[in-house]
Order: sequence, then structure tokens, then C-alpha cells
Amino acid sequence: MPEINPKRLMQDLQHLRNIGAFGSGVIRPAFSPADMEARLWLCNRMSEAGLEASIDGMGNVLGRSRNPGKKILLGSHTDTQPQGGWLDGALGVIYGIEVARACAETPETAHYGIDVASWSDEEGTYMGILGSSSFCGTLNHDDFNKAVDHLTGVSLQQAIRAAGLAGIPPFRLDKSNYLAYLEAHIEQGPHLEAQELLLGVVTAIVGLRTFKLSFTGEQNHAGTTPMAYRKDAANALIKLAHALDLEFSSLAHPHTVWTIGHIRLDPGSHSVVPGRAEMLLQFRDTDEALLDKLQDKASSLVQRFCEQGPVAVQLEPVYPHQKSALMSDKVQTCLAAAAQLHAPGRWTSMPSGASHDAQALASHLPTGMLFIPSIRGISHSILEDSKEEDIIRGCRALASATAAILKER
Ligand SMILES: [Zn+2]
Repeated sequence: MPEINPKRLMQDLQHLRNIGAFGSGVIRPAFSPADMEARLWLCNRMSEAGLEASIDGMGNVLGRSRNPGKKILLGSHTDTQPQGGWLDGALGVIYGIEVARACAETPETAHYGIDVASWSDEEGTYMGILGSSSFCGTLNHDDFNKAVDHLTGVSLQQAIRAAGLAGIPPFRLDKSNYLAYLEAHIEQGPHLEAQELLLGVVTAIVGLRTFKLSFTGEQNHAGTTPMAYRKDAANALIKLAHALDLEFSSLAHPHTVWTIGHIRLDPGSHSVVPGRAEMLLQFRDTDEALLDKLQDKASSLVQRFCEQGPVAVQLEPVYPHQKSALMSDKVQTCLAAAAQLHAPGRWTSMPSGASHDAQALASHLPTGMLFIPSIRGISHSILEDSKEEDIIRGCRALASATAAILKER
């Protein structure tokens, strides 16, 4: 059984944390100077681990084992949100390097083939899950050509040129090369900690759908317009939001989530009855049939509001729907055995409420994910953290699962 080196693991995570450090968190958005510095450092670290490492025209870092035979691909991402935490993504990439090193150092596993990847722009500064989609050959080229960082106005193609990556051919997945893709990640939610559990074996990654609801009434004076005469777009929005919440609560499964993340009232002044309003509604679940039901419910509520009046409502999808991705049963079984070994009785199977690169890989390779607890469930924040003992345990479990799959080949 490969033995990981906890000190080396923590040192590498801390080193990566210092590239783009911002308080206790990190600012390393895709293709920024800090992101590229981290990727070059990863290339070096992978080379030192005996892997053949390089960076492709999409910013993906791939360290390839020199051993013959079918391999396991371990990976995650090292780009961050505009203000991100130090473990989101970084954990899975550094785990990958440590597991490759640990296997190489152990005589019984030294011949195992382990490739390690850091995918680019998982967080969607330009385009979410960019690098892993490109690797799998499922990148939408229209979306690619149009992708822009909405905070800076810089296009994805400009960013790739500025990072010095233009013209470098992208890596492409050769399915015959790999037995499985494994991604370890922080949970980014409160479930493991709340149940005093130490590891999570992911069953599926949620699908998500986002809609814009537009309300059209009539703008008027807030003092002189009697209530019965109003076509108040804000009033309709509030009532519909409340009705959605009630109806979704009655349809939801335990892990279903829905969010109204944005509301705009027009003109948005204290003395004007709003003539227009809009809100963004997003919902997520692993069950596509349930997502269909939620979408039907939203449509029928919108229709009812239109019929009742006095405000017209429109529902339209924004952003492409993301389909849920099932993790491989076989890989889940291996991860569960590893979880039981390193956290007997203190692990669970669970869905992932967040998107991950594993979503792109899951339709091409047997794929699995392993979660470690997030302190207070906080992520996408500089306050994101996990206990050192949990970080080390997660790497040990990933090493065991990786070795178990490679032993069987
Ligand atoms: Zn992540």
C-alpha cells in the first residue's frame, strides 16, 4: 500500500496557497499572472515527481507517467474565484502529485501509471469547466469564441494570447489510456461536518438550470396611483417568488436546492411603482426528472400569473442547462472501501451540489469523486478551510483507492 508523506503534502499545499495569496485566501483567476505562475510551478513539481509534465494551449497542466499500461488520471483545478479559498481545486491537484510520488516510492506500486492534471478555468472566469471540456473534446466552439471575463471585458482568446499559450495544441483524451478519473475535493458544504463524518463518496453531480423571469407592468406615481389601478411589476415578482418557494418545497427531494440570486426593479426608485422587474431563478438536483418537474411547475405558475394579470410574466432559460453526471458504480465501490479503511463508519455516500471537472470527464471515463469536510461548510470565500488531519486522511484514502483500481488491471 503506498504511504503518502503528510509533511510534503502540506508543504506543497502551502506553497500553492502563497501564489496569489490574499489574506487567508487566494486570488488566482484563470490565466491571471498568479494562475500561470502556479501552473509553471506545478509543471516543475510534477517533473520532480518523475512525471512528463507540460501545459497545453488551454492552460491545462498534465503530468504523464512514464510507466507502460493503463493509467489512472487524478486531477482537479488550480484557478480560483475572484476571491477564493486555498483548497478549492488545489487540494485535488496536490493530492494527485502526492499519490503519484507515494506510489513511485513504494516497490509494489512503483510500476503503476498515474497521470495528474490541473484543468483550466474550472471556476468560469471566462467559461466554466473549460480545460476539462477541451480535454474531453466537448468544448462548444461558439461559446469559446464568445467567452469574456465580465469583470474586465477581456476575451478568452485575448487571455490565452496574453498568457503565452496561443498556438500550443490542446491535450486530447485517449480513452484507451485510462482505467478511471478520480477527483478529490473539499465538500464546500456543511453535510459532512454537521454529521461528524470524515469522508464523502460522491454518487452524482447535480444538474442545474437557470431561468430569467421578466415582469412587465406599468410605471406610475407611487403616491397618486390607487392600489386597485396599479400594474406593479415588483408586487408580481414578490408574489411569484413566494409561490415558487412554496411549490418547490412540496416537490423537492432532501438535496434539491433553488435560489433567486438576482432581482432588478425598474426604475428602482422609492416614489415610483416599478413598471418592469426581473429575477434569476436557479435550481439544482441530481435527478433530471425532478428538474423537469420543477421547470414545469415554474412554467405553470408563470402562465397562471399571466392569466390573472395585471402584470405580464415571461420565463426564459439563461446559460445552457448543465446535465447531472452519475459517478461510476465501480469507482464508488473502490472509494467506499478506501473510505471505510481510513474512516471506519464515519463516511457517507452523497451527491455533489457544486459543479466539478469530474462532470466533463464522467461521460468519457469511469469517474469518481471523494470529499473531505469543509469547516462550517464555507467555500468560494477566503475563510474556506479544512482541518489538517482531514486533509491528510483524504489523501490517504485517495492513494488507497487509486492503488486498488490499478492493482486490479
Ligand atoms: Zn473546485
